[in-house]
Amino acid sequence: MKHHHMRMGKTKKIALVAHDHKKDDLLEWARFNKDTLQQHMLFATGTTGWILQEALALPIHRMMSGPLGGDQQIGAKIAEGEIDCLIFFWDPLMSQPHDPDVKALLRLAAVWNIPVATNRTTADFLISSPLMSGEYMRLLVDYDEYKERLSDQFGTGASS
Ligand code: PGA
Repeated sequence: MKHHHMRMGKTKKIALVAHDHKKDDLLEWARFNKDTLQQHMLFATGTTGWILQEALALPIHRMMSGPLGGDQQIGAKIAEGEIDCLIFFWDPLMSQPHDPDVKALLRLAAVWNIPVATNRTTADFLISSPLMSGEYMRLLVDYDEYKERLSDQFGTGASS
């Protein structure tokens, strides 16, 4: 399988998402790491972003609320190369109305090989990594073969 690299700059585009029972946890974590977080570009689902903005005065690009499509908006940004890193405090003890979206978001993070923290300890390790403040070449599967396969099979050019 062929690979190529995608450059992640020193300023990372970080997405923050927390389920309702995890929002306090994420807020506490973000408060502790505020100095580091404000060196990066922040994105969040609607309510999570609103809470972080209000409590910490951090500038955040807010999507819609998760259950209304915010997780999918974050997923789309990952696919478009506009998110470098995902901090997702999901609730393992509660089913969500948008469980399929949660799964889809984690899947896209795996497809595009971005670092993901799904709990606080991993988030601590991630945010304190020296790679957060440096450039990094992210290894990506070259999906051109996949696109060509579509073109062979259906006799039409796949444009993206
Ligand atoms: P919210 O969405 O930040 O709007 O609450 C989070 C989620 O449940 O995906």
